Amino acid sequence: MNGASPAALSTCSRRSPDFGHRAAAHVAAAVLSVPIHETTMHTLTIDDVLLKGKKVLVRVDFNVPMTPDMKVADDKRIIESLPTIRRILSQGASVILMSHLGRPKGRPNPEFSLKPVADYLATLMNHPVQFAKDCIGPEVHEMVRALKPGDILMLENLRYHPEEEANDENFAKELGSLGDVYVNDAFGTAHRAHASTEGITHFLRPAVAGYLMKKEIDYLTSAVSNPARPYLAILGGAKISGKIDVIHNLLPKIDALVIGGGMAFTFLRAQGLEIGDSIVEEEKLELAKDLLDQMRELHKRFILPVDCVIADRMENDAQRKVVPVSKIPSGWRGLDIGPETVKVINMEVRRAKTIVWNGPMGVFEMPNFANGTLEVARLLAEATKAGAKTIVGGGDSAAAVAKAGFETQISHVSTGGGASLEFLEGRTLPGLAALAIE
Ligand code: AMP
Repeated sequence: MNGASPAALSTCSRRSPDFGHRAAAHVAAAVLSVPIHETTMHTLTIDDVLLKGKKVLVRVDFNVPMTPDMKVADDKRIIESLPTIRRILSQGASVILMSHLGRPKGRPNPEFSLKPVADYLATLMNHPVQFAKDCIGPEVHEMVRALKPGDILMLENLRYHPEEEANDENFAKELGSLGDVYVNDAFGTAHRAHASTEGITHFLRPAVAGYLMKKEIDYLTSAVSNPARPYLAILGGAKISGKIDVIHNLLPKIDALVIGGGMAFTFLRAQGLEIGDSIVEEEKLELAKDLLDQMRELHKRFILPVDCVIADRMENDAQRKVVPVSKIPSGWRGLDIGPETVKVINMEVRRAKTIVWNGPMGVFEMPNFANGTLEVARLLAEATKAGAKTIVGGGDSAAAVAKAGFETQISHVSTGGGASLEFLEGRTLPGLAALAIE
């Protein structure tokens, strides 16, 4: 991870000298305390700072799924940020919203414009939302200058500029010059040290957490700092390469691990099975073997699929059948977990008291291979009813839970996939560390 450590931050941040005193008077009220690697970081929230008459620059994560005709397809992240926006407006301040959307690769591209999101927000809030065609530059400054208390301005996609992801100092300074107070409510991006999440805090303070950020951190901290056991993690998705560190760091904390989705095939192959044309990361086979050994040594329960739905093509209408994982013919590929695997997962889920799930169990975008993922969503909803704490992170798994209609039956559906996993691993999130006060 490329995040700056809190120590590095305290040597180079420019914090206003009187802020500590002002903050201290409010700290007892809403301070966010995050235990990370034996230390505790303290962060202020929007309840701790005076907002009246201020221009409040809020980093939100409005990186929401969009339909091909540029409509908001899932508004969870927008809805979850509304309390922060409303609170700031109610204090007699104006709000400047900044976010990224998709991967425009550092260039303006209308396909990734935040304008439809600004319009959606205006409808949701029944309140006008002005829109700036860029996130920096003289026109933006002019629009910011003209803001009055109660106004909302949304800036264009931060990632139209490569400097955003590069955490460029000048770009961060430019962004910082737009507001009087900085609020980070973008939990979903907090695991990235970008100009709008980390760099900016060296130039604009106070820098505090919004309500979405606070809710996520409070929940995740309470659920897993001293988890009710057994503690089960269910991981899926296409590849292990993106989740190796997660698996490695979670192992000592959890009691059992279920691996599904495409990445299960690399583990099955590492155990010597023939897996036909299923997705496999040949270069990760050794690592998969090491992880298997490690699980054995740690006496943790490790569950891989026992059967799967195979297809002769990567198409929804491909020929398909259910086979044991040891019987995948060549020319066929595993695209979902099978019914016996769902039964095994059910047993693990029923036993567990804390369950974390990230990543689909199959190619859930295709209805014929979505069953395993939807079944896991159902099992988690049942476990929640029976008293387990259930946490779902990641766009795909959160979407599956919503699609299956179980969103309100899960203890916590996180707005962050990577961010929630890194937090659960015990890693420092740079976006959160940047808000820390001494
Ligand atoms: P990730 O971004 O790593 O969480 O992966 C999510 C993607 O994994 C989804 O788009 C799924 O379609 C894909 N996926 C899940 N299971 C499989 C599988 N068995 N084979 C290929 N892709 C899969």
